[in-house]
Amino acid sequence: MSAPLVIAGAGIGGLSAALALARAGRRVLLLERAPKIEEVGAGLQIAPNAGRILAGLGLEEELRAVALEPAAINVRRGHDGAVLARLDLAGTRARYGAPFRVYHRGDLQQVLLQAADDEPAIEIRTGARVGDFEDCDGAVRLRVHAGEGVEEIAAAGLVGADGQRSAVRGHLLPTERDAPVYSGLTAWRALVPAESAPAALRARESNLWMLTGAHVVHYPLRGGEIVNVVVIVATPRQDDQAAVLSLDGAALARALHGRRPAPMLSALIEAGAVWRHWPLFARPPLSRWSRGAVTLLGDAAHPMVPFLAQGAAQAIEDAEALGRAFLTLGASVETAFSAYEKSRIDRASRVVRASRRQGDYFHLGGLGAVGRDLAIRALGGRGMLARNDWLYRQPRGQSAT
Ligand SMILES: Cc1cc2nc3c(=O)[nH]c(=O)nc-3n(C[C@H](O)[C@H](O)[C@H](O)COP(=O)(O)OP(=O)(O)OC[C@H]3O[C@@H](n4cnc5c(N)ncnc54)[C@H](O)[C@@H]3O)c2cc1C
Repeated sequence: MSAPLVIAGAGIGGLSAALALARAGRRVLLLERAPKIEEVGAGLQIAPNAGRILAGLGLEEELRAVALEPAAINVRRGHDGAVLARLDLAGTRARYGAPFRVYHRGDLQQVLLQAADDEPAIEIRTGARVGDFEDCDGAVRLRVHAGEGVEEIAAAGLVGADGQRSAVRGHLLPTERDAPVYSGLTAWRALVPAESAPAALRARESNLWMLTGAHVVHYPLRGGEIVNVVVIVATPRQDDQAAVLSLDGAALARALHGRRPAPMLSALIEAGAVWRHWPLFARPPLSRWSRGAVTLLGDAAHPMVPFLAQGAAQAIEDAEALGRAFLTLGASVETAFSAYEKSRIDRASRVVRASRRQGDYFHLGGLGAVGRDLAIRALGGRGMLARNDWLYRQPRGQSAT
């Protein structure tokens, strides 16, 4: 039997890529470093650009069962809660071909994992860390660390979907200034039982609150039983080890006090029993993702700050483009990888840059914030949604679903 395509990393990117490649008729070996495939973190917004692709992979029924479709996104002034714009999401499916959904990360990953498990062309191995590799004569020999041992595996091609600290990228592009750096921003994440959240914040809607140097996003999950809350705050340089740090709600609310959050927002933050600390890393876009029969996908290729809620969505777009490259170009891995990169790099790079700008916009203070709030009111919900047409509409060349 010919060598499979190997994917390093079974995050949302790697699992989606495995499915897209299998649907394109390729055999896939998916190697995951962790002993068990499970998502850390809590909620994930899946915008229509990614929802369309997941539906195209044949997962619509399973996804609908675990998703929640918020009715609207409320953009709020953080210090008094005033709604500056209400983005009505009811017409999202008609406008973009898929609804705007939110998921518990674990639920979305389980749907992808189950589909990959059911797919005979995909083999999944956990506890298998991809180490270094050689790419020679259109094939890849990689070393995989499993338990105490190291195994050599022959692959037709290697896809590094191994996240922002990608080992594959480290071997592939050792000379680029490519290591993600701390963005100066930290996320605090918590799941709040709905009955503990202020009553006015329990609706099936998403909310964005803008404060000076900080913003908060929250939305309901799992039928509205829990509220996923993310607080993003400008924070001086962190020791990476601090990623495991946690705070209780009262302590986090105290830390934000100087940014003058509205009482209702403070009450929501206080209602979170455990807040997990998540330093945000990013990097200017790379100029290439591939060399020979090795390529990158998802956060390994384009780590970004999460202010357009597009990191996973872009990984899913990568997966679709990778599958399409094999479907339309046939057997040569190098040709397919090169076509995949060409079709994706400009768009993903644009999203990386736009995500950073979006954070700066959310965090304005003083007169800048006043001008921003006036502009948002003038645009209104429709205008605000239309600003994301370029993201949510089907890019040229993407497979219709
Ligand atoms: C606070 C926050 C909120 C966010 N919200 C959103 C949102 O609402 N919507 C959205 O679209 N995106 C969002 N994102 C971004 C999104 O979480 C990521 O972009 C996405 O999860 C990246 O998926 P991935 O598969 O590329 O990488 P990862 O999820 O990092 O997966 C990489 C996998 O590779 C494995 N691995 C690592 N090294 C190796 C190795 N050497 N060998 C084998 N396996 C390896 C890891 O164990 C892991 O399972 C958010 C991010 C943050 C921080």
